Amino acid sequence: MMDEAESRALLVELARSLFQRGFAVGSAGNISLRAPDGGYLITPTNSSLGRLDAARISKLDEHFKHVSGDKPSKEVFMHRAFYLARPDAGAVVHLHSTMATAIACLADVDVSAPIAMLTPYFVMRVGRTLPIVPYYRPGDPDMEPAITEAARAARAVLLANHGPVVSAATLTDAVYAAEELEEAAKLALLLRSQNTRPLNAAQVDDLLATFG
Ligand code: ZN
Repeated sequence: MMDEAESRALLVELARSLFQRGFAVGSAGNISLRAPDGGYLITPTNSSLGRLDAARISKLDEHFKHVSGDKPSKEVFMHRAFYLARPDAGAVVHLHSTMATAIACLADVDVSAPIAMLTPYFVMRVGRTLPIVPYYRPGDPDMEPAITEAARAARAVLLANHGPVVSAATLTDAVYAAEELEEAAKLALLLRSQNTRPLNAAQVDDLLATFG
């Protein structure tokens, strides 16, 4: 397992990479991970993913209380919802990435499967389900129980009219899953008016049994 200094350095590196490739703009998006001591590291409020300072990343204790670094993201409760619902989650990535957010704004989307399972990598990274959590005003405390409920059955969720929240065992895997989700959303939108050939249930089962 990485020590805390290595985790901080990796968080800065991956956040910058996401920003530079347009997965995040302005101060949007936040990333967290479980620290080796049982606490959490999370990007500070109003910080840009492109310009994080490893020494100023917010540190929380095991009860999500801020203990050092800059003030944590206002969206920290989204991360808490995932960690409490999913003991296997080692990191959480929340973005407002364009294509996934576009899907989260569609009026006639299937709320239990908003993105068709077109490619194996989407299934391997994101899993079988991608629930849509209804719209809540940013900061509304009622959003947390809704995310907790959805995260019990899914590694990732889409927040309606807002964006994706993705978890995985490690920070690197959570970033890869967020990227794969964005690419799958892009494909789904590109192919929205075409006949597609989604993976069938047996193919999805086989992927999850092999790589899940
Ligand atoms: Zn957000």
